[in-house]
Amino acid sequence: MPIIASNFKTNHTRASTKEYLEKVNNYLKTSQNSNSVFVFPTSTSIDNFSLEKNLEIGIQNAYFTNNGSFTGEIGLEQLEEFNIKTILIGHSERRHILGETGEEIAKKFEFYKNLGFTIIYCIGEPLEVKEAGLDKTLEYIFEQFIGIDTNYEKLILAYEPVWAIGTGKTATNSDIENIHKAIKEKIQKPLLYGGSVKVENVKDICKIANVDGALIGTASWKAEDFIKILENTK
Ligand code: 13P
Repeated sequence: MPIIASNFKTNHTRASTKEYLEKVNNYLKTSQNSNSVFVFPTSTSIDNFSLEKNLEIGIQNAYFTNNGSFTGEIGLEQLEEFNIKTILIGHSERRHILGETGEEIAKKFEFYKNLGFTIIYCIGEPLEVKEAGLDKTLEYIFEQFIGIDTNYEKLILAYEPVWAIGTGKTATNSDIENIHKAIKEKIQKPLLYGGSVKVENVKDICKIANVDGALIGTASWKAEDFIKILENTK
């Protein structure tokens, strides 16, 4: 059964997150859909939700600290209050827009690994690297694993080409197939694809060899659409 994750990014309020989760949870309860489902709301919208076993809330980001003086960040203490045990690390928006470095990402990974969190670790190349060819793309992607313990048992990977995120441009099936194959040859962990996954293409994408599921932004922000995505992949 695939792993299907929704990344809310900077969208939804506490109220609309609650409504969204109620709808998705009800669907899971009544449909016998056994996909492994993750939702990453904004950190202001996390709460002690009561959810089906296969629906889990994760955090989009947190600092590598229990608590302390890191203005604007949240740490373990704030996550524990809501029993959060899953974190997204290395998302391209954090790398490229928020300026997170490989070194910071590796520290974050180590910190949450040592706490036993499930980590969805994102990798992916920008357009200029893609245009330089497959070898360069793989070289770039494997550099993103420096300092990352790829043997960690609760590691899930997400290949998200930067040029495909939020652009409506999905990688071709053969791009996805080639890159997933190359990653899986070196790292035998569940591997999701992300980047303009939609209701219409999710089924075909999930059928590609070495694709274990999808990490979805824009097309997952309406509960009804996310439910269609879950239905199309069960
Ligand atoms: P889109 O689905 O909007 O392209 O975003 C993908 C993504 O960044 C998920 O983390």
